[in-house]
Amino acid sequence: MKKIVPTLLTSLLIMSCSQLQTLNNAENNTVVKAADLPKNIIMIVGDGMGPAYTTAYRYFHDDPTTPELETTVFDRHFVGMSSTHPAPESGYITDSAASATALSTGVKTYNAAIGLDTNRQPVETVLEYAKKTGKKTGVVATLQINHATPGSYLAHNVHRYNYNEIADSYIDDGIKADLYFGGGWKYFIREDRNLVNEFIASGFHYIDRYSDINTLPANKPVLGLFADTGLPWALDDSNKFRLSMMAKAATKQLENKNGYFMLIEGSQIDYGGHARDIAAAITEMDDLAKTLEYLETYVAENPDTLVVITADHSTGGLTIGKKTGRTDDDINSKYLWKPEFLRTMTMSPEAIAKKFTTDTLSLEDVSTLISFEITDTDMANLVQAKLEDSAIVSAFNALSDADKKGQRVPRAYQSTLNVLTKLIDMKTNTGWGSISASGTHTGIDVPVFAFGKGSEAFKGFQDNTDIAKKIFTLLGKK
Ligand SMILES: [Zn+2]
Repeated sequence: MKKIVPTLLTSLLIMSCSQLQTLNNAENNTVVKAADLPKNIIMIVGDGMGPAYTTAYRYFHDDPTTPELETTVFDRHFVGMSSTHPAPESGYITDSAASATALSTGVKTYNAAIGLDTNRQPVETVLEYAKKTGKKTGVVATLQINHATPGSYLAHNVHRYNYNEIADSYIDDGIKADLYFGGGWKYFIREDRNLVNEFIASGFHYIDRYSDINTLPANKPVLGLFADTGLPWALDDSNKFRLSMMAKAATKQLENKNGYFMLIEGSQIDYGGHARDIAAAITEMDDLAKTLEYLETYVAENPDTLVVITADHSTGGLTIGKKTGRTDDDINSKYLWKPEFLRTMTMSPEAIAKKFTTDTLSLEDVSTLISFEITDTDMANLVQAKLEDSAIVSAFNALSDADKKGQRVPRAYQSTLNVLTKLIDMKTNTGWGSISASGTHTGIDVPVFAFGKGSEAFKGFQDNTDIAKKIFTLLGKK
């Protein structure tokens, strides 16, 4: 009799502990049964995509021929909000690196940190952990694949601007992904080192044109680099929906019996916010929305897949609806936002500015390019800006090499671009919270969206570090 009791007790104890551990491993008190763990996890970061962006997107996306305001894919999957603040030493407002490190590792860190904690020590990321458990892994971005967000899932470096070091670590610290899609020739095909060749030597299939993305060899790791650094704006790119195109090819390429973890980043929403360029930002949002719409069908066909979407922070203090100074009846009303002018644009303000500074364009030409009528005053402002730009460029070119050192080479169209984006802001009644040359990040909480297996874990309010912790749990980490 005596002998039986202890063993029974111990096995009872052992069983309950492990079940408890498995069932309740989520620090967020989400009970996860092993059978409920998703096979595939897709983490999506809309860089700079604060709540104003997903709201603005609903109005942009609205079909004006119907009385109702159609909801968007974001609305269908909204589950909660997330705080984004970095470690105390960096204050309340994060940069992309600290926030991506929080989302990938679950720890708060200083701004500019890549996969390091505040003691400058490397912290394991969800992507690295997924790889260790035998899953395939991938990163897809519309900027260089060694930029802050993908870098924070793949590398560990004291500063986000150590682009070459971060790129080198993708080989030197062991190849951690089976698929990379984005930009980056500048850092991966260098005079001092050709990392593309090293990836090929490690068995990777390399592509550098969109046209090759649908003919990838099965079961082979892939490196796809399609630009020097960032991909062109969605508005200017040969494929306006290049993020959804890459995501489609990536899900197919990564599918395998153990499942996969993939990071997808809509990287240039942030760039649109920094440039206070609502036209560019909203079309980046449209590309991200198309990616989510594709993943909705993907999850319907692959229900053991989890998709989580959030932002690392918001950018530019975007406000939808701003009283303008102009005396134009329908524009001057207090409560009005006019996305219709954005829906018809086919060229980014940056591309129009470049064209305006290199070619001789008439008022009619600009109106056609920008897809709404500009006034004589607008044209006069553009001509003035063109003169300013050429003066700035000649002044810079006149400097000695020594004086040029450390100075950023001026963009030959920056003043013209500023006039164009202001024009679009006036026309659409769009406002921005920052007045500095490049728009800033803001400290506002960001939305969280999720669908698929395990998505209920992301309901409610959470911190960005919680999102990582939940993903570790959903990867089966004890
Ligand atoms: Zn960012």
